Amino acid sequence: MRESYRPKPQNNGVEESVNKKELLEKFTQMEKQVGELYNEFGTLKESLARLIEENHHLSVENHHLRKRLDEQNHSQSNEKENQQQKEAEEKAIGEGYDNLARIYEEGFHICNVHFGSPRDEEDCLFCLLFLNKQHNG
Ligand SMILES: [Zn+2]
Repeated sequence: MRESYRPKPQNNGVEESVNKKELLEKFTQMEKQVGELYNEFGTLKESLARLIEENHHLSVENHHLRKRLDEQNHSQSNEKENQQQKEAEEKAIGEGYDNLARIYEEGFHICNVHFGSPRDEEDCLFCLLFLNKQHNG
């Protein structure tokens, strides 16, 4: 009974074996592609990790730089304010001296002893001392 050993429908059998081979090749190909994708995914993941790390470093650096810049601006503006205040005080003292000198020239006492009272044309030692003290700080 040799007949019974023959593959039943030969054509189908050939097609089947070709399909199986193709299927196997496709699976192998897909496996390879999946492997490549997996590797690519790994590389991308590493890149992403590096980017996140870099971003973190930049954020920290940016934070420090901003802080330093703020401190610098702050100290500079303080210095400027102090300078302006000093100049204003010096100006006020100068103006104060000029005003007192003018009042004295106009004939009034500016000393503690006779402040505001008329001077009788003569120089007052107290006034001159006071003016001298004001002038030299
Ligand atoms: Zn006086």
